[in-house]
Amino acid sequence: MCTFPESLKSEIKLSVNISNGNRPQTIENGWFRPNSIKEYYELVELNSFNPNNVKIVAGNTSSGIYKDQDLYDRFIDLRGIPELSMIRKNSDGVEIGSAVTISKAIEVLREGKAPTLVFNKIADHMNEVASSFVRNIASVGGNLILAQRGRFESDICTILLAANSIVCIQVGSKRSTYSLEEFLEMPPCDHRSLLLSIFIPSWASSSNVLFETYRAAPRPWGNAVSYANSAFLAETSTDQETGDVTLEIVQLAFGAYGTEHAIRARKLEEFLKGKIVTGPILLEATRLLKEIIVPTDGTAHAKYRVSLAIGFMFKFLSPLAKSLAQPRKCMPTEYNNVKSYMDSVDSHNIPISSRQDIVFNSEFRPVGEPIKKSGAELQASGEAVYVDDIPAPKDCLYGAFIYSSKPLAHVKGITFKPSLASKKVATVISAKDIPKGGQNVGAGWIFGSEPLFADSLAEWAGQPLGLVIAETQRFANMAAKQAVVEYAMDNLEPPILSIEDAIERKSFVEIPAFLYPKQVGNISTGMAEADHTIQSAEVKLGSQYHFYMEPVTALAIPDEDNCITVYASSQWPEGTQSAIAKCLGIPFHNVRVITRRLGGGFGGKAVRSLPVFVSCALAAYKLRRPVRIYLDRQTDMIMVGGRHPTKAYYTVGFKSDGKITALHLDLRINAGIAGDVGPLIPRAIIGAMNKYNWGNLSFDLKVCKTNNTSKSAMRAPGDVQGSFIAEAIIEHVASVLSLPTNAVRRRNFHDHESLRVFFGESAGEASTYTLPSLFDRLALTPSYEDRVKMIKNFNSVSKWRKRGISCVPITYEVSTRPTPGRVSVLNDGSIVVEVGGGIEMGQGLWTKAIQMTAFCLKELWDDGKETFIEKVRVVQADSLSMVQGGFSGGSTTSENCCEAIRLACNTLVERLKPVKDKMEENGVVPWEALIGQAAATNVNLSASALWIPEESTSKYLNYGAAISEVEIDVLTGATTILRSDLSYDCGKSLNPATDLGQVEGAFIQGVGFLMYEEFLTNSDGLAVTNSTWNYKVPTVDTIPKEFNVEFINSPHNKNRVLSSKASGEPPLLLSASVHCAMREAIREARVEFCSSVASESTALTFQMNVPTTMPMVKELCGLNTVENYLESFI
Ligand SMILES: Cc1cc2nc3c(=O)[nH]c(=O)nc-3n(C[C@H](O)[C@H](O)[C@H](O)COP(=O)(O)OP(=O)(O)OC[C@H]3O[C@@H](n4cnc5c(N)ncnc54)[C@H](O)[C@@H]3O)c2cc1C
Repeated sequence: MCTFPESLKSEIKLSVNISNGNRPQTIENGWFRPNSIKEYYELVELNSFNPNNVKIVAGNTSSGIYKDQDLYDRFIDLRGIPELSMIRKNSDGVEIGSAVTISKAIEVLREGKAPTLVFNKIADHMNEVASSFVRNIASVGGNLILAQRGRFESDICTILLAANSIVCIQVGSKRSTYSLEEFLEMPPCDHRSLLLSIFIPSWASSSNVLFETYRAAPRPWGNAVSYANSAFLAETSTDQETGDVTLEIVQLAFGAYGTEHAIRARKLEEFLKGKIVTGPILLEATRLLKEIIVPTDGTAHAKYRVSLAIGFMFKFLSPLAKSLAQPRKCMPTEYNNVKSYMDSVDSHNIPISSRQDIVFNSEFRPVGEPIKKSGAELQASGEAVYVDDIPAPKDCLYGAFIYSSKPLAHVKGITFKPSLASKKVATVISAKDIPKGGQNVGAGWIFGSEPLFADSLAEWAGQPLGLVIAETQRFANMAAKQAVVEYAMDNLEPPILSIEDAIERKSFVEIPAFLYPKQVGNISTGMAEADHTIQSAEVKLGSQYHFYMEPVTALAIPDEDNCITVYASSQWPEGTQSAIAKCLGIPFHNVRVITRRLGGGFGGKAVRSLPVFVSCALAAYKLRRPVRIYLDRQTDMIMVGGRHPTKAYYTVGFKSDGKITALHLDLRINAGIAGDVGPLIPRAIIGAMNKYNWGNLSFDLKVCKTNNTSKSAMRAPGDVQGSFIAEAIIEHVASVLSLPTNAVRRRNFHDHESLRVFFGESAGEASTYTLPSLFDRLALTPSYEDRVKMIKNFNSVSKWRKRGISCVPITYEVSTRPTPGRVSVLNDGSIVVEVGGGIEMGQGLWTKAIQMTAFCLKELWDDGKETFIEKVRVVQADSLSMVQGGFSGGSTTSENCCEAIRLACNTLVERLKPVKDKMEENGVVPWEALIGQAAATNVNLSASALWIPEESTSKYLNYGAAISEVEIDVLTGATTILRSDLSYDCGKSLNPATDLGQVEGAFIQGVGFLMYEEFLTNSDGLAVTNSTWNYKVPTVDTIPKEFNVEFINSPHNKNRVLSSKASGEPPLLLSASVHCAMREAIREARVEFCSSVASESTALTFQMNVPTTMPMVKELCGLNTVENYLESFI
């Protein structure tokens, strides 16, 4: 199947290589490739050249930074000009053409027998720029031009600046050379300036040269630009008698700290030149540097960036100051000196490793076997067909959303800027296109809904105002971005944009009584029993985007007789069907929603994706033509609200031994504009908190209705916040009492009796309460104690890096729900399985469904062949084929589907067994023969079932515990997860291979929530972290260096599906172990540098909000640690 996009095909046809006598007279759409500098200038001097719609490119990777590519429709590619790709190297240095790629530059710098220190370090640093696939195409010149034009956080510019690099530029017919520093000071280059080459001196003839480069970025080497970067060059001389080191030459470059471009710190260089490096000189240098490094107004984390610059300079110069080399206390005796010890424990030397310990369960074979995920090859090869891979039907049109950028405003009109794209707009679909009898309803669930399109009043930033329809997705996207919306604010109250606003204006979503969590005991009595109390402490957690791989996608095809078929990337085909039918005002049976698989969902494709499917259907219905929508990542991030931001204020009473006697919680949740799943969140938060026995528990819960995008279910919704809040309270209690945190955790575990008080029936039987033993196996062991001791040693020797370790338990309540399934055998013996709303989204649902089918029909085929599973195929969800499908979510869909399959298979066995028994009178009955005979005798070979779990056993608890060990860099705030050991009670896993994937993936997604993913909005509530450029999920460089998982195979349990347990969401909570370990490490730093963070008493107790990003870690350790340390030498 060829799915190469039509829009790209047409661009290729349009590309013009002007060397073949094919010289264009005008710049129309498409690509132009001049073959000489002369041809380049001929092109840009054409009358039709307009810099606003022609982009000049080398690798064009800047389109990944400035998401404006959609706005250009013509391009000039510089890579056809040979001069820009030349490389010249001699003993003085290397000159590289501006179009040379970063990868090639690295290769050239490292070439030769003995590359100089400067070349080596530049190459090493370049290797941390972007990722290999970007470096392989991105040019060095493109990077410098981005930096020269201003406010691009270039690394390359900074490191070349410190090495005294020189650039060669042509403007018109004039060629000139400038130092890189001069070049950066020039007015921003326009299309008339061509950067030809860059010369980097080798510094080979200089003696005693030191050169070092630094960067601090949210991810160490994973496509993230720096908060600040630096490169330093120094030539030194050493007094043989005294050992004093004098700086003869010093060149200090700083960049990315909130500056227009990288700079040389000239004043500081002059100060240091000729000086002996000592503590007081360094202190003076830091003071001078603070005057030089001044981030421009509005720079995020400005103070943090300044402290980074100081930290980098300190790292470079402090080893030269002999007075700063101090022996540290508590060195392990087997090491002679600090250096040999630090080398032995250097986290950079820890190899990446992992271990998985699983006990396989062969009782229900092939259920329980780690069989490969169904469709793995199709996905790996790219053949798997997702909604956007379905070939476009004839006459297909494409849609893109125009959304409100205001939180509360009248919409007066929408116009388009004149452009090629606006000429291609077929129409704009809006609320006025909803047919008579239909409703303006977009996303909605039992707790309320929101309009599909704003009619005349926009109520949140990101609300769809209309859907631009054009001939290609690109034109639709371009036109939507060029739409100009006219707003008016007359007679409107200010919008409610925060939890505080909502509380003040009493704007709440009601929590139905049946969802209100259970308070326990009597809070006053509990508080009276306490020896100590902590009053109204605060914990704050941000949002998190559902970072699925496939943005929300739909293809709607109108059919005869007012019917419509919609291919939707939906976790909830049944809900999609009903929303479309309601909007169009047609019966449900006119709407067929088909979902084969999703490229991830994490809850974002349940309720929040509905407006995309419904608008797509509305456009197709109205225009009587197929319509496709593939949200670009930016629109997806703006429209699909994310996790609920939460604030909790707790008052807790406890005994001197750490036993908590009472907890009162004021919980504030930002739900956004509609209810969505908001009213469920408090219950989930309290549920996860109840892993501990609080003695007496009371709370005040507010789900706030605000003028923000509705927040929605996001993997472990509420539970992850709850588990985290519980740990924050436990740690706070432990720090007040100066007790080990694990001792306080263990002191507050439930016994089975209290577990039943807090969880009721979900607590199950005493034998199923595996948490205490699970925790003890991890935390109460000699090996844990040894690790704690080693960390203590490390922390006493290491000043600027600190380590922490923590073990965290989790409890997670899930519920099963009614689910339909159908199993049909075809005449050749192959089997087709349908599981209604059971959507394969990477969690392995199909694989488990196949295993279950094979297991349940075993009685009919058990001839020893392992290949039976190959006869089973699970097919797409189709809302008209299998009704009452419900949604996929809440971690139990796989087991629900398996149970429905089991019931359907039982019916088939009942029908086929007598046929088999009869045939067996004549010997062994192969499966195909059995089916042949059954078909010939008109046995019904298709069975459907609706599994309805029993009320009393529909809920159960999942348990796990995890140890994490981390190291923080006090100078940068970077955290390295050294090791995580996860222990998870997966019951009798239905498929340990897919469950392992779930456990590991969930844990890392939790790490993202707690440490990296800042889902930020502007003051109007519009998401501004709206691309991979500014929203950082964990990558390979941020996962634990050692990552171990073990499954606890807990005993049989008749109330669960073949004694299995859920694995989708609960393990996400284990990531709190990383956060708690970070707290331990930060505490060590605060104790070490307590004068710089505040008084000693506050060193131990501090609030650590989520996500705890690098700047926050550094702030908690103290922004002035270097200065304070240096002051101690005066
Ligand atoms: C995911 C990602 C991560 C990144 N991370 C980092 C990072 O950590 N650190 C860092 O420093 N950079 C980073 N970058 C930036 C990257 O290095 C630049 O995008 C790249 O070097 C630009 O080169 P290019 O050939 O693609 O330029 P293009 O995108 O083709 O061009 C960029 C601009 O330069 C102009 N231009 C290009 N060549 C010339 C020339 N010879 N004369 C005049 N004008 C010219 C173009 O007109 C255009 O405006 C990252 C980029 C991406 C996409």
